[in-house]
Amino acid sequence: MKHESLSYLPKENQGPWKTYLEQVERVTPHLGKLAYWVETLKRPKRILIVDVPIRMDDGTVAHFEGYRVHHNTSRGPAKGGIRYHPAVTLSEVMALAAWMTIKNAAVGLPYGGGKGGIRVDPAKLSVAELERLTRRYTSEIGVLIGPQRDVPAPDVGTNQQVMAWMMDTFSMNVGSTVPGVVTGKPIPLGGSLGRRDATGNGVFFVTAAAAKKIGLDLEGSRVIIQGFGNVGNAAARAFHDHGSLVVGIADVTGAIYNEKGIDPYDLTAYVAEAGGVRGYPKAEPVPAQEFFSLPADIAIPAALEGVITEQNAWKIKAKMVVEAANGPTTPAADDILSERGILVVPDVIANAGGVIVSYFEWVQDFNSYFWTEEEVNDNLRRVITEAFEAAWQKAAERKVTLRTGAYVVAATRVLEARALRGLYP
Ligand code: GLU
Repeated sequence: MKHESLSYLPKENQGPWKTYLEQVERVTPHLGKLAYWVETLKRPKRILIVDVPIRMDDGTVAHFEGYRVHHNTSRGPAKGGIRYHPAVTLSEVMALAAWMTIKNAAVGLPYGGGKGGIRVDPAKLSVAELERLTRRYTSEIGVLIGPQRDVPAPDVGTNQQVMAWMMDTFSMNVGSTVPGVVTGKPIPLGGSLGRRDATGNGVFFVTAAAAKKIGLDLEGSRVIIQGFGNVGNAAARAFHDHGSLVVGIADVTGAIYNEKGIDPYDLTAYVAEAGGVRGYPKAEPVPAQEFFSLPADIAIPAALEGVITEQNAWKIKAKMVVEAANGPTTPAADDILSERGILVVPDVIANAGGVIVSYFEWVQDFNSYFWTEEEVNDNLRRVITEAFEAAWQKAAERKVTLRTGAYVVAATRVLEARALRGLYP
């Protein structure tokens, strides 16, 4: 039968959701009988759009638009971060929620996929305004979240403090302390050791596994990283600590390059003072639009969606693109990279370290029994490396890209659960 498109998302304004739909198209021929259920993946289960009014420090009232999307809950509670960014849109949050469904299934976590966000520039708010925004938003989405229903976590523009306010607001509203309602919390509130750097460390573990496959020695290999936030920073430290050279780093303020390598610890100290990488004295400034064409072995987008496109994919010199960001490569760019023999390690595996350790945090909260950092990191390495191997094998077996291989593994798991549960009511 012919399926209706989504009336609430104008065709001309589908943004990252369109990228996601194309990725689903590519996997459909590999799903066999489960393709019967594939339409499930092409529409979010539920969407909540909320108005978030807060009193500003100057006494005025400001309104912000917030979202929480459950893309799929066939395999467990919705799970995924909360983004605070001035460019947040419904289409973006829908795509990010859908990528969480695929990611959680690809790495075998017992979760569905969700995501939330507020269209706001958090840097323009005072700490008190940020707290009021977070608490009001948490109350507004309170009908959806809960430790067995939907578990938020940090994403771009949010951090441990935001998670602490979310946990407190939810707990005060229900009348008891509920640590398992969010992950990525500060350690004293039931957070997990190793969570803060988990996404960056996971990026490193997966890159190490992928490098072995293509015969690349990470020791001395040159890495460029777009993004120096929580993920880019931790990834830079992990590569640096293991003997790779981080030769290029970019953030919203600019891009810098040093062929001898940049010390991420020293750069972190500089950024704390200067507010960004621009002007770092121990590297050369380079034009942001040339960043991905810098000479390197490994290119790591660690910021936002849609940054590797038809325009720059053919200029990439790296042997491998490792997607630390969600959705950084458009499908057209994917094709160019694959034709050029550049390996793309897809986001749904490469950046899954964050949600894997979120899962460990959630498990620890339920048990009220906390693991050592070594236990967390050993388990992270094992889970993410096994997921990479499964996607690699599937890709080889079906003669498809690693992304489609990961999607075959993940979509099969989601749709198997869908079929077993059946339609009800
Ligand atoms: N925001 C992160 C992601 O995109 C983490 C989500 C989580 O831990 O739930 O994977």
